[in-house]
Amino acid sequence: MRTVSILVVDPFPATSHLIHDLLQQDNDSHYQVNWCTSIKEALTEPRDPPADLIFLDHGLEQSEHKNYLGLARRNRFPIPIVLIGDTIDIKEEQAQIEAGASDYLAREELTLYNLKRSIRYAWDLQERESRIAELMDYDELTGAPNRQNFYGRLMQRLDHANASGQQVGLMMLNIDGFKKVNNSLGHLIGDLTIKEVALRLQQSLKPGQQLARISEDQFTISIISRNARAELETLIDRIRQLHRMPYQQLERKVILGCSMGCAVFPETGQDLDELLRHAGTAMHQAKKERGSSFRFYSEGLDTDIANQIALEPELLSALRRQQFVLHYQPRIDLNSQSIVGAEALIRWQHPTRGLLHPGEFIPLAEKTGLIVPMGYWVVYRACKDLEALQSQGMELQRMGINLSFRQFQDDTLLPTIQRLISHADVDPSLLEFELTETAVALNEVHVGHCIRELSKLGLTFSLDDFGTGYSSFAHLQKLPINTLKIDRSFISGVIDNPDDAEIVRAIINLAHNLRKDVIAEGAETPEQVAFLKDNQCDQVQGYYYSPPVNFEAFREMLCEGLQEATG
Ligand code: C2E
Ligand code: MG
Ligand code: MG
Repeated sequence: MRTVSILVVDPFPATSHLIHDLLQQDNDSHYQVNWCTSIKEALTEPRDPPADLIFLDHGLEQSEHKNYLGLARRNRFPIPIVLIGDTIDIKEEQAQIEAGASDYLAREELTLYNLKRSIRYAWDLQERESRIAELMDYDELTGAPNRQNFYGRLMQRLDHANASGQQVGLMMLNIDGFKKVNNSLGHLIGDLTIKEVALRLQQSLKPGQQLARISEDQFTISIISRNARAELETLIDRIRQLHRMPYQQLERKVILGCSMGCAVFPETGQDLDELLRHAGTAMHQAKKERGSSFRFYSEGLDTDIANQIALEPELLSALRRQQFVLHYQPRIDLNSQSIVGAEALIRWQHPTRGLLHPGEFIPLAEKTGLIVPMGYWVVYRACKDLEALQSQGMELQRMGINLSFRQFQDDTLLPTIQRLISHADVDPSLLEFELTETAVALNEVHVGHCIRELSKLGLTFSLDDFGTGYSSFAHLQKLPINTLKIDRSFISGVIDNPDDAEIVRAIINLAHNLRKDVIAEGAETPEQVAFLKDNQCDQVQGYYYSPPVNFEAFREMLCEGLQEATG
């Protein structure tokens, strides 16, 4: 028969004796009753055998025991505490139970039956509470620790690292494009995929590395080590390898990238808050890159973001102050080696910071909505410049103008563009709006409607940064898109990376099969240009021929037929 260890906390021994005597009469169990005088001692001092249950005298200093009851509950103290009071008082009983006691017994009710009932009840309750706590600590779908649990564990790790002179590495990992999986393949496949992601992540961990799922498509991994950065780097390699294999669920195969951001305590995160923030910043930076990518937090990442915040008020007045300018980058036909078009690229002539490139202000303009009027200004300015060129006898076949996904949220998009082109003296078919695959995928129906309407006016369309987003053949076939622009990241790899070369060949073939033109963006070397020509790419836009230049320089380039630009 197991001995049940009871601890009675009371300034005087009388209650303890009474409980001892009553429990001695029980034939079913064997009890050992110990006595101590303060709740603090009961909760903090180790005991052998450890107490299975505490009876706490209600007469003890009220505020003290309330504090300790609260503390015990918050810290999931594993031993149930039953209060013993002087009177039967329902209100008091309720208050004590709310404060954290498992049960309340009046001294006059102390009988063997009541004691046994109270002990059994307190145990049951404790078991149920710890089961609920366990469920609350773990993510139901993957079984990984959840957000709340993750915070607690990370806190402990930081304390431990502080005391032992070690480092804590934190990785935040986000599954790229997971929302699309959920939306297009359904939540069941989404759930199965997340489960599989968690399993693969778990498989890539070494002992001591802790995984948690902190939101739908976001995980964290924390490690404690003497060299956290090196361990994180090895871990990143393993994750990238495992993640490369397609996820197959119910006959559907998907390939998912992931973005990993890391920060290390104490180097790049001095406390819990900073560590989390910096790992998050690094992850958002990683998200900007194609495929599974990672970033370690460094000072510069924050200044990028701080700079953007500082720019916000100035950006709002920049349009009014006419601080935007358009630069033009020529599009070269690979057969004739002549300029056949251009892309208009916005710049901000900032009064103190100098010429700012779109990467520094477009995201902010999209966030604030300023991209809408700014985008109309770009159409207006590009038309004016095109008119000027034409009046001087210089003909272009196409002028590319970038459209942000955000501009499609403007209800006046169709009439405004219609008005802008009707006021300009240019053939609408010369204007080619550049959309990204993501802009189309974000709201296929609406964007599809807009571009069909615009193409009725004679306007043409291209898919920009092709290959980096999410495209379906359906888009390509159904939408009036004339041109595919292969993203620069593929072109830069065509010579050294057989995969990139293969992808570029495939895109060129696909475009031609669908009777679309294809433009390679970002060709910088003669070898890349030769590769593109050999593989029947139609046009090239890249530094090899010319970077974007201001209108005057572009006009001169057209006059001289590129000679200067290509040397
Ligand atoms: P994009 O539309 O893909 O434009 C091509 C970008 O690649 C340009 O950067 C261009 O300068 C750069 N580029 C071209 N050839 C080369 C090369 O050989 N090597 C390298 N390293 N880069 C090359 P830019 O002008 O900084 O523009 C960046 C992005 O900003 C554009 O990408 C476009 O998405 C956006 N953007 C530019 N102007 C506008 C605009 O008026 N409206 C909107 N919504 N977005 C714009
Ligand atoms: Mg573009
Ligand atoms: Mg592009």
